[in-house]
Amino acid sequence: MAQSTPTPTSLDGVTSLYRRFRPNRFAELRGQDHVVRALQGAVKNDRVSHAYLFSGPRGTGKTTTARILAKALNCENPVEGDACDKCASCIAITRGSSLDVTELDAASNNGVDDIREITAGAWHGTPGRWKVYIFDEVHQLTKAAAAALLKTLEEPPSHVVFVLATTDPHKVLPTIRSRTQHLEFRLIGGETLSSLLHDVEKAAGLKVDDSTIDAAVRLARGSARDALSALDQLIATGSVNDSQPVFEEMFGALASNDAVAALKALAVLTREGWDPEQLAESFAAEIRQVFLLLAAPEVADAVDAERERLSVWGSKLGLARTVRVLETLGKAMREMKSAPEKIVMLEIALVRLVKPELDISVEALAERVEKLEYGAPRNAPVSPPAPVPLLRPIGSTTKSAPIVVPEPVLEKVEKVVEEKLELNLSDVAERFTQRVVPRTARSAQLLLSDAQVVALDGYRLTIALPSEEMRANTEHIAQGLRSAMDHEFKTTFQIDWIVDVNVAKSAPTPEPVDAKKKTQIQSDEYEPPGDAVVVDSVPGHLISEMFPGAEEIS
Ligand SMILES: [Zn+2]
Repeated sequence: MAQSTPTPTSLDGVTSLYRRFRPNRFAELRGQDHVVRALQGAVKNDRVSHAYLFSGPRGTGKTTTARILAKALNCENPVEGDACDKCASCIAITRGSSLDVTELDAASNNGVDDIREITAGAWHGTPGRWKVYIFDEVHQLTKAAAAALLKTLEEPPSHVVFVLATTDPHKVLPTIRSRTQHLEFRLIGGETLSSLLHDVEKAAGLKVDDSTIDAAVRLARGSARDALSALDQLIATGSVNDSQPVFEEMFGALASNDAVAALKALAVLTREGWDPEQLAESFAAEIRQVFLLLAAPEVADAVDAERERLSVWGSKLGLARTVRVLETLGKAMREMKSAPEKIVMLEIALVRLVKPELDISVEALAERVEKLEYGAPRNAPVSPPAPVPLLRPIGSTTKSAPIVVPEPVLEKVEKVVEEKLELNLSDVAERFTQRVVPRTARSAQLLLSDAQVVALDGYRLTIALPSEEMRANTEHIAQGLRSAMDHEFKTTFQIDWIVDVNVAKSAPTPEPVDAKKKTQIQSDEYEPPGDAVVVDSVPGHLISEMFPGAEEIS
């Protein structure tokens, strides 16, 4: 792509670099070559679509590109489909005074009236000129507004181009999406941003050292807008505010499988004032670079010292683990969106990461296999299982190290674990009958056709069978049942079998009652485990899995 120097659009020293060096022609756009090719080609060949969907992360140039498209369409002296940026039309669009361009921020003007007003105007164009409507954050339109927009898109006026910009194309109505040509904007690579900043530095007559440019590139995370803002900060304050959470301790904890160190590193970062979502996002961004450096170094954005640092962590973590960290963080970030205590989701994620045995995901298994094959650990020493307050070793004979996990953290972990335990009995019973049993072998299905899930206590499930003979046969089906259960519930239950002659095919399914209450009632009714046979000896309680050799003290 052309790497010409951006033209300053304003010469006063006050306007931000981002505004001054905003690209004004297709030739000045960086890092979105595929988009430029498509649009410039369309203008040149007179095949412009009536509706475009520009999707991509913020700061990657969506609305800027829309304006350039408007310029190119209305330019008095276009060159190869690009704007001249000198004619009256181009200048008017740059100044924001052109009547041919209408911008609407759908985040704030998302009502049906806003859309109606605009689309009504679309029919009154100036002959020979293109009207371009730019709807930013179009996924935020109300339903009625989106419907009104859709109506216009179904029969667009011939001289009108709609550019719908969004950071979240999946939230745009499919009916709208299907009427647009979709162009995806990508995060801009480190080298492209770096060369942009160097060019701007020269054009603006600034003197900036390379480490500052690197810092600005790092802060920008693929956004040209953020890169220029960081450089602006330098001009204003003499230094870039490069305050970023530092994850070295966290990387170290993961590399050495140290749960305590990981939670401590998180606690330190939280004390520094970083919020959990910010931390998860920043860490995920670094891990992503680690992953790329391992899997496809040529597409990794990290440069110079940063690249070196992350490569070192990559070699310590290995690919399988890095993938799992990325997956687990992604999952935690999704869960955080709705979790009242976001930090807890992050804590759980970290503990899962250093204790792959807690995790039955494919990635976790892959990592365990890799460990077996290459011999664990590949790197730093593994710390001994952490002793924990509120827990004591069963029949404790070994003297354990001093307690280091901060108590509030543990309490939160336990709280979440408890919440996770609140699986609903009727739900489990229904899934057992309808999804688990059909997944087992024929013999197991026969045996289980009369089985009834009668109690649930954490990950301990009590299943009643009508006869002693049947119960005696459960050991033959245990393995198949277990894998069917694991598949369905993504967790391991301990199953207690009991005999209850009242259990028959016609027996009513348990009513949806509060899980805990129900469990109590059921325990009373089914007087277990004197004669209960425990077939599945895999321990189910998450806490004891997290901290082996420990049990709860009430
Ligand atoms: Zn022009």
